[in-house]
Amino acid sequence: MLLNPEQVALIGQVFESYVLEHHKNDILNILQEPEEDAHYPVVVNAMTLFEANMEVGEYFNAFPSEVLAVFDNALHRAAVSASQSLPQQKDCKIKQNLHARISGLPVCPELTRDRIPRSRDVGHFLSVTGTVIRTSAAKVLEFERDYMCGKCRHVFSERADFEQFYSFAPPTRCPSEDGCASYKFTCLGGGASSPAACRDYQEIKIQEQAQRLSVGSIPLCSPEVQ
Ligand SMILES: [Zn+2]
Repeated sequence: MLLNPEQVALIGQVFESYVLEHHKNDILNILQEPEEDAHYPVVVNAMTLFEANMEVGEYFNAFPSEVLAVFDNALHRAAVSASQSLPQQKDCKIKQNLHARISGLPVCPELTRDRIPRSRDVGHFLSVTGTVIRTSAAKVLEFERDYMCGKCRHVFSERADFEQFYSFAPPTRCPSEDGCASYKFTCLGGGASSPAACRDYQEIKIQEQAQRLSVGSIPLCSPEVQ
């Protein structure tokens, strides 16, 4: 985590009150949906959010994946507090999988691209304009597995490797703080037969739009992106 606890608290508070002010109806609608384990998006306009608090905008641009996780937690707290405002007889269920989806990024060179992003853009949150030329079927992706150390019985999770097409490499060392030198690990549940931690996954292939490029440039196709 690159953000300190005060920054996390600030971002969480700002986002929680922002969504309660601007997206309370979206949240109330989600609370009345029947499916408890489904994933629900709340689409938040970046420009309006960053105008409400510029500092949050700066943190978001610098540490997007950390900040998105803070947003999702704040969304959950906002949902709990919104549910308390509903009359008792309303059938409402708190959902475990609420996600802030940030749209409408400000048009500036750091955040928007007309060309396929390069390797130096890895880890940045960007808006890319292009034509979708192929989409794969939506799939379920297993992204995390739990392992137990055979020696000290320490339990830890490993993430699927994005750069290896979301495959799992067996753990090579025990992350226990006791300096355990074990090299034997048992996979706890999960695995191909009954994956435990999954998310939706779809590959989309996009092509740059020729009319947006300078004369003489050739539109490139992206490799498939998630
Ligand atoms: Zn161990």
